[in-house]
Amino acid sequence: MVHLRTGEERPVAIPDVCPNCGKAIDKSQERWRCVQGRKCYALASIAYAAGRDQLDIEGLAKSRIQQMLDTGLIADLGDLFSLVHEQIIGLDRMGDSSTTKLLAAIEAAKSQPLSRVFRALGVRGTGRSMPRDTAPRRSAS
Ligand SMILES: [Zn+2]
Repeated sequence: MVHLRTGEERPVAIPDVCPNCGKAIDKSQERWRCVQGRKCYALASIAYAAGRDQLDIEGLAKSRIQQMLDTGLIADLGDLFSLVHEQIIGLDRMGDSSTTKLLAAIEAAKSQPLSRVFRALGVRGTGRSMPRDTAPRRSAS
């Protein structure tokens, strides 16, 4: 491949900080990671999991997830499922009926088929059909 070089090549700039959140990079191991670990991608991963094709949690907008992360109500997806009414209604711009609706949507997400849970967790290779094959719905037989 060396023969493909044109002389225009520039050195690859190695980032000093995490390109996603700007925090430091943990270089103690071969594979570098953001010092925040999974927290770095918490917003993106929770928003994805709550999406319509995954757990379909209606009323859980990205801004709401960010608010929950900022206030320490949740740190990961699992924390959503132990939230109670008083915690959610304590959030800014959250009313009684929207709290009740959101809790119902979170509750409903608990009975999503296992294939959607796999997808929500971002298990590699789990598109729309693979999880269905891996975790088929129980048949009546
Ligand atoms: Zn980061």
